[in-house]
Amino acid sequence: MRTITIKPAAITHNLNQVKKFAPETKVLAMVKANAYGHGVAAVLPALQQANGVGVATLIEALEARQLGWDKTIALIEGAFTVDEWRQAIEHDISCVIHHAPQLTWALEHTPPVHCATRVVWLKYNTGMNRLGFNADGVIVAAQRLHEAGYQLILTTHFANADDQTHPLNAMQIQRFNDMLSTLQETVSADVQGSLCNSAGIVNFPTHHHDWVRPGIMLYGSTPVIDQSAYELDLQAAMEFSAQIIALQTVNAGEGIGYGSRWLAQQDTRTALVSVGYGDGYPRVIADKTYVTVIDTINHQSYPCTVIGRVAMDMIVIDVSNVPEGTALNSKVILWGNAPRVDEVATHAGTISYELLCRLSLRPQRLQG
Ligand SMILES: *Cc1c(COP(=O)(O)O)cnc(C)c1O
Repeated sequence: MRTITIKPAAITHNLNQVKKFAPETKVLAMVKANAYGHGVAAVLPALQQANGVGVATLIEALEARQLGWDKTIALIEGAFTVDEWRQAIEHDISCVIHHAPQLTWALEHTPPVHCATRVVWLKYNTGMNRLGFNADGVIVAAQRLHEAGYQLILTTHFANADDQTHPLNAMQIQRFNDMLSTLQETVSADVQGSLCNSAGIVNFPTHHHDWVRPGIMLYGSTPVIDQSAYELDLQAAMEFSAQIIALQTVNAGEGIGYGSRWLAQQDTRTALVSVGYGDGYPRVIADKTYVTVIDTINHQSYPCTVIGRVAMDMIVIDVSNVPEGTALNSKVILWGNAPRVDEVATHAGTISYELLCRLSLRPQRLQG
């Protein structure tokens, strides 16, 4: 059995950590990509103290509404078509407006007075160069939207906030702060600001403005390159586990698995674990990647390295350091408290976000 256990209490704890970093600020909790692979239905109840949730697609927004989320839902890339814009109005969804077509839809189809779509997240390109108006465009868009009765939140997104020393951060912050002041002076004093994702929340505490937009740190993974999840007191919101389904001793000189990539230097006790890339465990991992075996007999935890190629349905681990008689069916933690998903991501040459998002449908999902 392979299992993904979601821990709502950890998410609530992590949200409180966000509030410690940003005590004066409203929180838009990012739940895009099925809440970073955790399952939006499992996560929303733990986010009751957030002021809103952020999603990337209209389908995700409608799902959050259907699940009963009755506060702000922000569509962070906005509507993709005028039909989506109309649906956003119908379901009280607030949208980013990042380019001229979206501006046209908003000016031609204005929402009724109490509709949440009257709040627009106006996207300013400060250096990420993906979405957003340039400086002149954002001023014109802000004026026209304000005249049409919209309330504005100026927003932008960091390209390098995980690295506090990166020079683009100061540039993006300055462009954003200057523009926010300009809009407050020339368009409306009520224009709000939203700058920081998780890394910005941690690294730029004096630039939180009205709304922060935490994602990865809610799920217990570190957003910055120089501090671990432990140091930031973030709890793992997901435990991904499987079981030992066979035990063997591999003789010195023998290889293991596809490509016989790992060769036993000495007789080695090994365990077969029922998980693979078909579940979302990364196929390409460094040799030192470990899992935690919890022996069903003595209930002790043992770190054990993965040896040989990760296959679709199984991996092999070295259980030399587990007492002789390792129990069949012992639980094996792929990531959770130890190792953290951050460590596995590093060993896989990627980031925690990707490992969390690309889990497959095969593991059984539980709440713990
Ligand atoms: C995904 C996203 C976030 C959250 O980013 P994290 O690094 O996960 O905190 C914030 N803002 C926008 C616009 C996003 O797309």
